[in-house]
Amino acid sequence: MNSSNAPGSDETPTCSAKGCRDAAEWVLAWNNPTLHTPERRKTWLACEEHREHLSQFLGVRGFLKDVVKLDEWVQPEGSERPR
Ligand SMILES: [Zn+2]
Repeated sequence: MNSSNAPGSDETPTCSAKGCRDAAEWVLAWNNPTLHTPERRKTWLACEEHREHLSQFLGVRGFLKDVVKLDEWVQPEGSERPR
């Protein structure tokens, strides 16, 4: 019994790839310089299968800053939480 958790809330982070509901294993930190200040970090989550696909998507646009294991991801101060 854990009354602090709302019923039906799902704390497991899932992959950001379209249509994918796998558990996320990677955090992709990115920044779009036309929209964001340089220190701002947007984050996508990726499962093992989609890490490369999502990295490439961001990489070809020059947005990708970092790919970090979800376990090792430390949210920079002032950034949005991965979701
Ligand atoms: Zn995925």
